[in-house]
Amino acid sequence: MSGPAVVYWVETSERAGEEELAVAARRAFAAAGLGSRVRGLTAVKSHFGERGGKGFVPPRVIREVVELVRAAGGTPFLTDTTTLYTGRRTNALDYGALVLEHGFTPEAVGAPFLCADGLVGANETEVPIEGVHHRSVALAADALRASSAVIVSHATGHLATGFGATIKNIGMGLASRRGKLRQHSRLRPEVVADRCIGCEDCLPNCATGAIGPDARRTGKTPVMAIDAERCTGCGECLASCRQDAIRFDWKVGSRQLQEAMAEHALGWVRRMAGRFGCLTFVAHVTKNCDCMGRREAPLCPDVGVLAGTDPVAIDQAVCDLLRERNGRTLEAMSFPKLDGSVQLAHGERIGLGTRRYELVRVG
Ligand code: SF4
Ligand code: SF4
Repeated sequence: MSGPAVVYWVETSERAGEEELAVAARRAFAAAGLGSRVRGLTAVKSHFGERGGKGFVPPRVIREVVELVRAAGGTPFLTDTTTLYTGRRTNALDYGALVLEHGFTPEAVGAPFLCADGLVGANETEVPIEGVHHRSVALAADALRASSAVIVSHATGHLATGFGATIKNIGMGLASRRGKLRQHSRLRPEVVADRCIGCEDCLPNCATGAIGPDARRTGKTPVMAIDAERCTGCGECLASCRQDAIRFDWKVGSRQLQEAMAEHALGWVRRMAGRFGCLTFVAHVTKNCDCMGRREAPLCPDVGVLAGTDPVAIDQAVCDLLRERNGRTLEAMSFPKLDGSVQLAHGERIGLGTRRYELVRVG
């Protein structure tokens, strides 16, 4: 059995401002020696916020990370992937515009934004793994083409996983649309008939021809239906429908979702071994994740910035610090019926990392 992982912690004040977080990020990055992992085209993977949201790691801090990457000899670019749900991040163009609206302009942060999974989430690479649920995971291709990466995560509660930070930022955040669907749902989409306006925007995007006018309906305007036998669950129709008329059943169990998420993270971590580092912000910790697109008050005082190279160890340290500081777990403060430690236990089981860590406080 290998020894514990080292996790570096720079403590901040209880309501850290952007400048304080930027300084903490610089110190954590240096203490963990993350610069030694940087080379060539370097992805700075973060979540740049859903419209109306506030809790995401801000441009001032991302600029600091970009400067650190450049100083270490890398050529940084900001990256993330498109989403399954209907919002402002469903395709690369809308997400690119939102990134600029949120202040992550090349002038402000010093690097451009590139969606790692392409225009509609289909730029993907299948990576074989030895997981419990998956033998192969579908990941954003350009997140694997980068020479190195800095994973910039924001710890929050989550309505389906209870807790989300580094593992989620990699496992869900670097999965292609197909990879996200595999994690979220084993079911096929359905058309919500009273929302479908018959525009047919979805048709050219369905590679298998599974979606088409519902022959059982005889009205003037066609309403789409999906042939479950031909549907692969790729989610292309979800991205192309602007009427929110395509729905998936998200009622997949939290345990299965967390385990699948850890397995997708494993695929990326294995491919990028020795070429990535993690900075995880335990500040402005909210009940919901940054996908929610609304301003939420923090649940608890800020803890600071954690750095290291083992996503399981970092997330374990995040959970422990939050529990010690608040006398109860993050899930108890947000979604008490969920247990976010499933992703940690499964991550350790499949070799993503270790829950045993040595916490080095950076003075
Ligand atoms: S894109 Fe949406 S609204 Fe248009 S036909 Fe397809 S399902 Fe109906
Ligand atoms: S999920 Fe993919 S295969 Fe299924 S109907 Fe939608 S576009 Fe077609």
